[in-house]
Amino acid sequence: MKVMKFGGTSVGSPKRIKEVSSLITETGEPTFIVLSAMSGTTNSLVEISNYLYKKNPDGANEIINSLENKYMLHVEELYTTEVYKQKTREFLHDEFDYLRSFTKNLFTSFEEKSIVAQGEIMSTNMVVNYLQENGVKAVLLNALDFMRTDKNGEPDLQTIKEKLSEIMKANEGYQIYLTQGFICRNAYGEIDNLLRGGSDYTASLVGAALPAEEIQIWTDIDGMHNNDPRVVEDTEALHQLNFDEAAELAYFGAKILHPTCVLPAKYANIPVRLKNTMDPKAEGTLINNVVVKGKFKAVAAKDNITAVKIKSSRMLLATGFLRKIFEIFESYQTPIDMITTSEVGVSMSIDNNTHLDEIVNELKKYGTVTVDTDMCIICVVGDLDWNNLGFESQALDAMKNIPVRMISYGGSNHNISFLIREADKKQALQSLSAILFANK
Ligand code: ADP
Ligand code: ASP
Ligand code: MG
Repeated sequence: MKVMKFGGTSVGSPKRIKEVSSLITETGEPTFIVLSAMSGTTNSLVEISNYLYKKNPDGANEIINSLENKYMLHVEELYTTEVYKQKTREFLHDEFDYLRSFTKNLFTSFEEKSIVAQGEIMSTNMVVNYLQENGVKAVLLNALDFMRTDKNGEPDLQTIKEKLSEIMKANEGYQIYLTQGFICRNAYGEIDNLLRGGSDYTASLVGAALPAEEIQIWTDIDGMHNNDPRVVEDTEALHQLNFDEAAELAYFGAKILHPTCVLPAKYANIPVRLKNTMDPKAEGTLINNVVVKGKFKAVAAKDNITAVKIKSSRMLLATGFLRKIFEIFESYQTPIDMITTSEVGVSMSIDNNTHLDEIVNELKKYGTVTVDTDMCIICVVGDLDWNNLGFESQALDAMKNIPVRMISYGGSNHNISFLIREADKKQALQSLSAILFANK
């Protein structure tokens, strides 16, 4: 069985839902579908929550009402029979009444998670009703019945496997199995989620749990491009990437994939195919374990990075110094992305500033601390095995007109990263495309 995941834009309007429905049914084979919320909906649900945190129920109600009006118009456009129109209207009215119920009570992150879960619950119910109206043997499986995270907030793949296997056995004989991306229950049984963009993660976890023969991520672009298409013109779709390259690009900012979504597919050795809903015939990108030698593959950028440098002539490189430094970051649950060392100092980059002040205060015990904010990591991915000649120098050459705060190379065989000012990102990405991909 294949798993196909459709993102927000792919189900963003009744027209798109109709197109997706014909795409998923045309093979006639049993298929497992993971859906995001309609585009914009999760943002609106987050906005509603923000109003409720600020104790502003009127602001929240205004968004709920306008979202409800929009969804009611979708119903008129999507269904042809009065039976299905009425069934979906009733379902949606209950949904919006449920959202309104939060405007009257105490509001915490627990309530927020229940609110943001409704986008995927609405989109999947609308699509299954549409498929059934058109005679497709489709069933909706509730992700909250099998998607689980553990006490560390990590997916609990063993439990997901066991629960999904039981559910699949109880639902044999359907053509389309449909579920919500993004949402799950945590170790305490509460509604939770896999973070923004997490529907990709659901797809790869479901793919690994079934197991599926292939996991397809359908979105609004024809695969992973060799640079960020939002910043650089004339980027090109890549036809193949290996799992490690794709994971690196996703982690360092290629928004087309959720950062962690490659891992379950990699461990289960299931190929991931990125496809374009707007242009289904385009080849897309196949992610598998094939390593292509001798090439730069792509460049990505991750914003909102802070660099922290600690300089200490006395203690650096003494036994245990780095451990003490790392423990400070760990105690504030702040992961380090890049790290470089010298005889007198160590520089690290982080993407979460929540505890920056506390971290800096504690680091000061060990030396002089400098902080640079509004930085950006530029990650160049390809065959960067240290035995290959000339690859690092080409990447460095592309950065020659840009002030570089840190360079990281040698951590893996397929990446060299630069830390630069966010303000220089566009120039850096353009220059890398011009130098690394000009003769492709
Ligand atoms: P979905 O809603 O389907 O999950 P996303 O918006 O999360 O879609 O991801 C698709 C978007 O990722 C594209 O529209 C594109 O702008 C952006 N993107 C960023 N970097 C890349 C890249 N290297 N290749 C392709 N798309 C990228
Ligand atoms: N709907 C969620 C979001 O907008 C999850 C997803 O689309 O992947 O982040
Ligand atoms: Mg996405």
